[in-house]
Amino acid sequence: MSEYGLAVTYNGKKYKVYYADKSREYPVGGLICEYSRFDPRSLKKILLNCPYFRNPPYKTSMSEAGQWFYKAVWDRYDTVTATMICADVGAVLYDFIWSDGDTVKKFINELNEDIGDNTMKQYVLEETGTDKFCVDSIGYVLLAAYAFFLNSYTVFEYCFKLLAENDEGNKEKTQEFLAYYARNNEQQNITYKLSLLDGNFCELYIIKSSISLILFEAAHLLYTGDPIVKCKNCGKFFVPVGRSDTVYCFYPSPQDKDRTCKEIGAQVKRRDKEKTDKVTKEYRKVYMRYKMMTRRHPDNKEYDEKFKKLTSEIKEWRKKLESDNITTDEFFDWLNNY
Ligand SMILES: [Zn+2]
Repeated sequence: MSEYGLAVTYNGKKYKVYYADKSREYPVGGLICEYSRFDPRSLKKILLNCPYFRNPPYKTSMSEAGQWFYKAVWDRYDTVTATMICADVGAVLYDFIWSDGDTVKKFINELNEDIGDNTMKQYVLEETGTDKFCVDSIGYVLLAAYAFFLNSYTVFEYCFKLLAENDEGNKEKTQEFLAYYARNNEQQNITYKLSLLDGNFCELYIIKSSISLILFEAAHLLYTGDPIVKCKNCGKFFVPVGRSDTVYCFYPSPQDKDRTCKEIGAQVKRRDKEKTDKVTKEYRKVYMRYKMMTRRHPDNKEYDEKFKKLTSEIKEWRKKLESDNITTDEFFDWLNNY
């Protein structure tokens, strides 16, 4: 079994992650929050660009491809995400290199069993030149490992939502999930060792799969009770550090990759408010105009109908504006009909 994984210490309050001569602190819940922001589809693009894709998968060439993969992933993703991808995908590559042919064959056969009903596997194979998993080239071995990884990541995402969306029903499901892995502890892929770090002996955990990562965090989150919060700008989860009433996360914002939600959240909110104010003001003018017209000409059916149409349609338009489905220009195009 591969010894690769997320190297982390835990002092009862926070984590410290060790990687490539560096270390970084995370709050409890912070590891899975970072990992939950990963878009697993982005990894397929990386795999398809593998320079060794069509090469035969000899042991030596696989090691070379493995090294290329690790570098590509670390160049693209944050610490926790990069480590967990490399751990899950790396486990398959490791088995491919070191297991006997029968084990590999069994793994591939299992992957191929339910392709017809499995949209995730169909997605993996789309536009790759094959409709079945195989080990005919380095690229195909990588795709098989990717399918295995996606399955782990889906379990991770499901459990993450249970933990983050912290309602009563979820607590029971989280306990069930933890109990399942506590009973089947061969599925826990966490190594524990004593290690000399920063001149001190530390208890170091090596977390070697996505599922183990969520278990590790779930166990601590249940004790600390630290909140995971949904960012009011990007809608993704994060652990507030410092002030507990923080509403914006400190990850790159969807509006501007170089600035965090925290940096631009308030500004976006203000702009939204200005937008709403302008819309309300202009609508009010039109509304008052029609109100006067119908009052002055109570017998005019056309005015009356248009007024009714205006007041009923505005409800839909407000909803669309709130959900950002339309621009204010589109709104004013509509309002100008009146
Ligand atoms: Zn955010």
